[in-house]
Amino acid sequence: MYNEKELIGKRSRLFRRLMKLRDIIPGSFSVRRLRCGKPNCICKREGKLHTGYQYSYKIEPKQKPKTKMIPKDLAKQVERQVAANKEFKKIMKQIHEINLEILSNQIKNKKN
Ligand SMILES: [Zn+2]
Repeated sequence: MYNEKELIGKRSRLFRRLMKLRDIIPGSFSVRRLRCGKPNCICKREGKLHTGYQYSYKIEPKQKPKTKMIPKDLAKQVERQVAANKEFKKIMKQIHEINLEILSNQIKNKKN
């Protein structure tokens, strides 16, 4: 159980971490093994699949996800941007929890 001052201090530290996470993009990144579709390619003939870097995202919750294939030299960057967004959301969740705890305490104090 934290008091309000401790909670606000904790929240400030979380916001400082949040401010450093700027290069964020929503969605998910995955590495896939796939066939290119060319009839004479080694992937078709010998089953040696290509490596594909796939990024999927949506902006609105009800939207159908959009998928992009990412060039190899951008794959690490996209992976990092997606991971930074996950971290961003994790910190936002902690901030929500703190603010809800502060609200609960405010409601409790009103009852006395
Ligand atoms: Zn191929």
